[in-house]
Amino acid sequence: MSPTPRPHFLVLTFPLQGHIAPALRLARRLLAAAPDALVTFSTAAAAHRRMFAEGEGGDGDGRLELLPFSDGTENGFVKRGDAAELGAYMASFHASGRRSVGEMVDALAARGRPVSSVVYTLLLPWAADVARDRGVPSALYWIQPVAVLAIYCHYFHGLGGVVDEHRRDHSFVLEFPGLPPMAAGDLPSFLTEATDPSDYFHSIFTTFRDLFDALDRETPKATVLVNVFQELEADTLAAVGAYDVLPIGPVLPSGDDAALFKQNDAKYMEWLDTKPAGSVVYVAFGSLTVMAKGQVDELLHGLEESGRPYLCVVRKDNKAAVAETGDATAAAAARRNGVVVEWCDQVRVLSHAAVGCFVTHCGWNSVLESIASGVPMVGVPRMSDQQMNARLVERDWRVGVRAEVDGGDGVLRAAELRRRVEEVMGDGEAAEVRRSAAAWKRAVAEALGKGGSSDRNLTAFVEGARSVI
Ligand code: UDP
Repeated sequence: MSPTPRPHFLVLTFPLQGHIAPALRLARRLLAAAPDALVTFSTAAAAHRRMFAEGEGGDGDGRLELLPFSDGTENGFVKRGDAAELGAYMASFHASGRRSVGEMVDALAARGRPVSSVVYTLLLPWAADVARDRGVPSALYWIQPVAVLAIYCHYFHGLGGVVDEHRRDHSFVLEFPGLPPMAAGDLPSFLTEATDPSDYFHSIFTTFRDLFDALDRETPKATVLVNVFQELEADTLAAVGAYDVLPIGPVLPSGDDAALFKQNDAKYMEWLDTKPAGSVVYVAFGSLTVMAKGQVDELLHGLEESGRPYLCVVRKDNKAAVAETGDATAAAAARRNGVVVEWCDQVRVLSHAAVGCFVTHCGWNSVLESIASGVPMVGVPRMSDQQMNARLVERDWRVGVRAEVDGGDGVLRAAELRRRVEEVMGDGEAAEVRRSAAAWKRAVAEALGKGGSSDRNLTAFVEGARSVI
């Protein structure tokens, strides 16, 4: 008698920190949800090398394997400032990625570890085809809110014309079925700016277009796992009935979280230990946002003047933003109240009792991690889904406020930062925001707990994958 086949998930992701983190976390959740399951986690080779030590193949028992695929480049995407560079990289990523992942699936089958389900993040529209060509089911892993999924879906299914017509009028109010009216300025920037063939991000727009085309090819319906929990966007889920949507989030780290960035100083946790509960302002703008010139000075001024202790992340690649002071860490050391680091373990920081507010660019991982920790936010959105995320934070969930940046240079001024931090950390209405944040933290614990909505949905997905082997 042949042994019972084991479910084997191939989890594929675009090589960006904000995609890799939720993908790797999902890989570990799948292993935990089904003790007999195997997972192969795969991203492009350069990111793989940056994250994992040479020879590191996965966990000790062989259930998790880490395998790179080729994006056709030696060093991954390298920004040089040429308008066509991103388009050229994406073309290479798609052509080589499709070929390389196909070869990987075949090679895994040949060595007796056949893939039974492919799970892929946003920017790999060909992953579903690679799977279908081999008779393997696939699921898109949507790592943004359901509201954003619904907007993209409507855009590519009939409402693109009206958006195109009004995309430059940021206050124009648009109505999408199943969603509250929203301003054009709140839509994903890839639908309002990148539709122009001359835009730097145009290849991201066309990749989203190809992704939604790929979902349309799935019969009877595409499966979409979303990094959200059902209760957070209960009303919006009805707007994406075109797909089988399974909210399974927030998918949080269990154990070590691999990152593309290195920490230069881990003493910040001890520093946090010395601060009273709810007193520290944590500031970080994710892995990609490049701050405007002079932004770091403005931030540090605002934080100093707030009189509250602060932990501020300034990535090494934000050199222009530190123009006036040279080295941000040195600049902060000269001040009294804060710590500046190049990278930190954000989930640990947000879970620390001392942290009372998160000044964030509203990347979806950051928003989810903050909600899961019950930390109220000050949103400083820039691009992609961040405007929409900030709107949801402020208006729908009331777990934060949105800050205004200067129209001219996009800088968040010190006075505005101070004012918004008070709105979530001070007295009066701020208490309401903190209550709401605490309530959503409890809702996360319930959704992830045994028998909670996300726990049930993930189990249903795993069992569904098992039934088709
Ligand atoms: N992050 C971190 N340390 C930092 C800054 C960010 O660990 O100092 C992590 C953060 O926890 C999140 C990811 O980087 O998981 C950023 O993803 P997000 O979607 O918020 O933004 P993106 O980087 O994609 O713009």
